[in-house]
Amino acid sequence: MEEYIAAMPKAELHVHIEGTIEPALVQQLAIRNNIPIPSSISSLADTSSGYSFHDLTSFLAVYYPNMAVLLTSQDFFDLAYAYLTKAHSQNILHTEIFFDPQAHTSRGVSFSTVVTGLREAIVQAERELGVSASLIMCFLRDMDAQSAMDTLIEALQYKDWIVGVGLDSDERDNPPSKFSDVFARAKQEGWLVTCHCDIDQKDSIEHIRQALEEIGVNRIDHGTNIVEDKRLVQMVREKGIGLTCCPVSNSVVTEDFKGKEILELLRAGVKVTINSDDPAYFRGYVNENLIKMATDTDISREELLILQRNAFDISWISEEKKKGFLRLLEKFSV
Ligand SMILES: [Zn+2]
Repeated sequence: MEEYIAAMPKAELHVHIEGTIEPALVQQLAIRNNIPIPSSISSLADTSSGYSFHDLTSFLAVYYPNMAVLLTSQDFFDLAYAYLTKAHSQNILHTEIFFDPQAHTSRGVSFSTVVTGLREAIVQAERELGVSASLIMCFLRDMDAQSAMDTLIEALQYKDWIVGVGLDSDERDNPPSKFSDVFARAKQEGWLVTCHCDIDQKDSIEHIRQALEEIGVNRIDHGTNIVEDKRLVQMVREKGIGLTCCPVSNSVVTEDFKGKEILELLRAGVKVTINSDDPAYFRGYVNENLIKMATDTDISREELLILQRNAFDISWISEEKKKGFLRLLEKFSV
């Protein structure tokens, strides 16, 4: 099964570029930029071991300080190129990468520094590795809506480099509706929209409803709690709105990887996909996430293929490119 998963042509639709920074790269960039090595790294026996945290709070206490090493366009290039190399090694043909501009502009790194480094890595990886990638700009939902709108306005000069917008970070008391105007403007500008609806939140179902009915999202990130509401399940199935699920990440932040719910939705005909989220932190890229599904649920080989068909299907690429990838997947399946 592991070989089958590794060989399968895949797409990834839910990965935060800031969450792909491996300990060795944090150390390397800290030295290059002549800044102190973050304590999350200096406390490790060696950089090949994973970061140490045990829940969402301790995860965030490592996650944000590590970003301090990202200062120049070259740093963002190196970060994205390292991820794209890893994705390519896992037979990922297309990936849609989240980035959080406010996590960088709020500490004095310009929007242009971030986006030009990421963009250059995508162009070079496409040329050198043949991997296809696009950028999705996420707003930090624990910051105010005006900050998100200011970020959107600043991003307009790079409009062609960004395929859509999303919403992430701390969901508690930060519903999708807080950003209605921002999403409306994003759509007006021609961007597609997605939104994190994290696992087992205080208002999970209401937030999923808002994302679908008030914002009119094209996809939902995580969102597996939808399984509790038949009407909403029917809505996403009928509209073909996909969910980008991340089982390994779920198992770290909620003590349940939600494999049962993911499979239930898949079997109900919802366009479910499997992704890595913050792979350097959760110690699992796409293959490891699929292996977890294969090991800990009774998912079949055919269903593993459907997950990939869904991922290409709901990806934000041209119909022509989509057909090309789906043809490769069909060829693999025979
Ligand atoms: Zn995420």
